[in-house]
Amino acid sequence: MTVRVRFAPSPTGHLHIGSARTALFNFLFARKHGGKYILRIEDTDTSRNRADAVEGFIDGFKWLGLEWDEGPDVGGEFGPYTCMERLDIYRRYIDRLLEEGKAYYCYCTKEELDRERQEANARGKVYRYSGKCARLDEETRNRYEREGRPRTIRFRVPEDREIVFRDLIRGEVRFHTKDMGDFVIVKSNGVPLYNLAVTIDDALMKITHVIRGEEHLSNTPAQLLLYEAFGWNPPEFGHLPLILNESGKKLSKRDETVMQFIEQYRESGYLPEAINNYLALLGWSPPGEYAEQEIFSMDELIRLFSFERVSKAGAIFDPEKLKWMNGEYIKKLDVKTLTDMALPYLQEHYGIDEPDREWTEQLVALYQPSLSHLEELPRQAELFFRDDVRHDEEAREVLNQPSVPAVLTAFRAKAAEAEDAEFQPANIKKMLKGIQKETGYRGKQLFMPIRAAVTGQTHGPDLNQTLSLLGREKVIRRIEQVMEQFLNA
Ligand code: GLU
Repeated sequence: MTVRVRFAPSPTGHLHIGSARTALFNFLFARKHGGKYILRIEDTDTSRNRADAVEGFIDGFKWLGLEWDEGPDVGGEFGPYTCMERLDIYRRYIDRLLEEGKAYYCYCTKEELDRERQEANARGKVYRYSGKCARLDEETRNRYEREGRPRTIRFRVPEDREIVFRDLIRGEVRFHTKDMGDFVIVKSNGVPLYNLAVTIDDALMKITHVIRGEEHLSNTPAQLLLYEAFGWNPPEFGHLPLILNESGKKLSKRDETVMQFIEQYRESGYLPEAINNYLALLGWSPPGEYAEQEIFSMDELIRLFSFERVSKAGAIFDPEKLKWMNGEYIKKLDVKTLTDMALPYLQEHYGIDEPDREWTEQLVALYQPSLSHLEELPRQAELFFRDDVRHDEEAREVLNQPSVPAVLTAFRAKAAEAEDAEFQPANIKKMLKGIQKETGYRGKQLFMPIRAAVTGQTHGPDLNQTLSLLGREKVIRRIEQVMEQFLNA
């Protein structure tokens, strides 16, 4: 059996991290088993479709490197891969259900159904369709037809049946048809609803494993009944755990406190490899000997992935961990590549054209160890791009310490004596040693005043390199400013 899996988004918005995780798990499973991974666009809920959503998905998945073997853009032998282009196909199967009496027309109006629902609610009962139109006599049906009443098509749910299946993640799952009610499979405009379309599509596309979010678990019994009605063998089902926010609640797309769309991560300078790595660990855990490992290449993920290690319990989305992980991936990049990626952020933020390439590479290398995503660089490296230095609270405190006048005076003198070209990290180190000897100040008492004076902060990357990259002139100017501002005041 060739494994065939699909990811079937509805084009209703931007690519969400939850969708990306579902796609990733499908992708990993397909690649692990040498199978096929298919993209299908489920656009039957036409009122919710957004024109640019498909393009956005395709773009997002390509960026993540989760490319499909069959899909709307690349085709394949089971196409079309967009539901609204498959209406003729669905029609044939709908007719079959109607002919076999497994489905029927329902003429109930929205008002009637709302009333039924309200009555059920008032009696504290879970609503399910009364089955009124399942028992319609010939005459009434003919009358409704003559009146041109809108009609939906409902599936006739068998009475008193237990539906049992083995979920790849949850194990045995049981539902009962007494809780179901005959469900609508075709809307009054002739377009099938999700449960019908998905069943026909999965069956005709020979999908072997349906891997999707837990929110679809409750759709599975309806789909299993449809498989049975058509006489088809159902695929295996695996429902991935919910994604929770940090307070353990289901992450809602409307929650604006957490960045949830792949596009936002892309724009903020996250790397696709880091996102895939992070999402893989959102519900899946690596086997024993890898339990402590957190950084996994795509090849490793493909090799190690299995449903046995996907948890049933909700997975907490921790943006800080993703940030950390992205930082780890940034550390592994070679400086040239990282500079290519980071440059646009600097250019945009500071409105600069082409800064000197060599200088920019050094700057990027300086911040590489502390960078969690590229968008942070302009802010972190602000001291290199502003003429005036803003001294923060801690820096001001440092500048009030007794060692400051002697250290700054000595450093200014040494810097003034040096040539521009000599103002390199190794030489600066020597200068500082010299000052140590002259003034008797060492360690923090020596470095902090210089760092605080020149950068305005008490923390930052390697001091000698920072000074060298800033350049002799700027450093001297800043020291002089501080001497005037803080020491003579
Ligand atoms: N179109 C559904 C969704 O976006 C997919 C359901 C499925 O995978 O069966 O949630």
